[in-house]
Amino acid sequence: MPIQRYSRQRELIYQAVRDSRAHPTAEMIFNQLRPENPHLSLGTVYRNLDQLSREGFLTRMPFPVERYDACTDPHCHLRCEKCGAVSDLPLPYAPGLDAEAAALQPGTLITRHDLVFYGTCPACREAPESEVS
Ligand SMILES: [Zn+2]
Ligand SMILES: [Zn+2]
Repeated sequence: MPIQRYSRQRELIYQAVRDSRAHPTAEMIFNQLRPENPHLSLGTVYRNLDQLSREGFLTRMPFPVERYDACTDPHCHLRCEKCGAVSDLPLPYAPGLDAEAAALQPGTLITRHDLVFYGTCPACREAPESEVS
């Protein structure tokens, strides 16, 4: 693939995310750009989004997090950015945050919040070379 086209697609994809307030998925970007860019593939969109995220231009939001938690009371989580491990973080749930959020979004009923902290777990910090996924 010529470098010119590669960077043009990258710019197109980046602009589409910047112009959106929907926190779009790769599929949303693809469906939006495809009509005017018939040569664009979903793989290219994924690749560019991944690269833009690695370079710090985009924040990757892991929704939905396909994990299951038997503890259904609201609580915070800690996610290791290297191995993906998720653990509970015993921070007290802050109901006041829900009220603050509701005040910022008039007309919206806030029922709860879900806090995830990101970092590197002890095992991954001891083995900095092994990036599992
Ligand atoms: Zn880890
Ligand atoms: Zn949990």
